[in-house]
Amino acid sequence: MHFHQMVGSIEIVCGSMFSGKTEELLRRVKRAQIARQKVQVFKPLIDDRYSLDHVQSHNAARVPSIPVQNAKEILEKMDDNTRVVGIDEVQFFDKEIVDVVQKLAYRGIQVVCAGLDMDFRGLPFGPMADLMCVAEKVTKLQAVCMVCAAPATRSQKVFSDQGQNENQIDLGAHDKYEARCRFCHEPEGVHFPAHQIGLRHARNEDSTNEEVI
Ligand code: ADP
Ligand code: MG
Ligand code: ZN
Repeated sequence: MHFHQMVGSIEIVCGSMFSGKTEELLRRVKRAQIARQKVQVFKPLIDDRYSLDHVQSHNAARVPSIPVQNAKEILEKMDDNTRVVGIDEVQFFDKEIVDVVQKLAYRGIQVVCAGLDMDFRGLPFGPMADLMCVAEKVTKLQAVCMVCAAPATRSQKVFSDQGQNENQIDLGAHDKYEARCRFCHEPEGVHFPAHQIGLRHARNEDSTNEEVI
């Protein structure tokens, strides 16, 4: 084994929903596989939106993954010869995940974690801030704002007619959330998705609730 392959590190890929976090995680995983490194991908059991044993992006790219109940289970399910660990939806783990990924990095493993940096209210999500602090590399991705088409950093909660779920964790994709920029984001949630209210192309055309000082 070459020296550089033994240098462990933590990489965080964060951003709003639809920003391409899972795509980027899968891209890094595939590069490691091309380099003939053994890879294991984990995800919290809570995320069963697409499949229990695959990590999948919104555009349908997917790789096999190992579902785990908690952070410690990642250590238990690690194979000895694994060089690269991917973790998707890492925001759903509790703060124990920080110690777990630190341990892996000290063992010489490249750890790539993807997760939401903010919840739908725009507040830091779970262990993400702590993970970013200890990481060697942090990549913050942006989606496209569904209201004004600017780069989007927030996940807009869209309440359906069938009732409301105000919990921080309410899994869903196109039906429950959409990407929005800081200025179009409404932290309390909205009742109509952007395609029903129309695209507001230039923000200065709509000065009804904005005062320029
Ligand atoms: P994430 O894991 O960050 O939620 P994914 O990697 O699963 O994102 O999906 C990213 C893909 O989602 C994009 O490549 C694009 O095809 C699609 N997509 C859907 N809505 C948007 C949006 N508002 N902005 C950017 N990409 C979007
Ligand atoms: Mg994802
Ligand atoms: Zn916007």
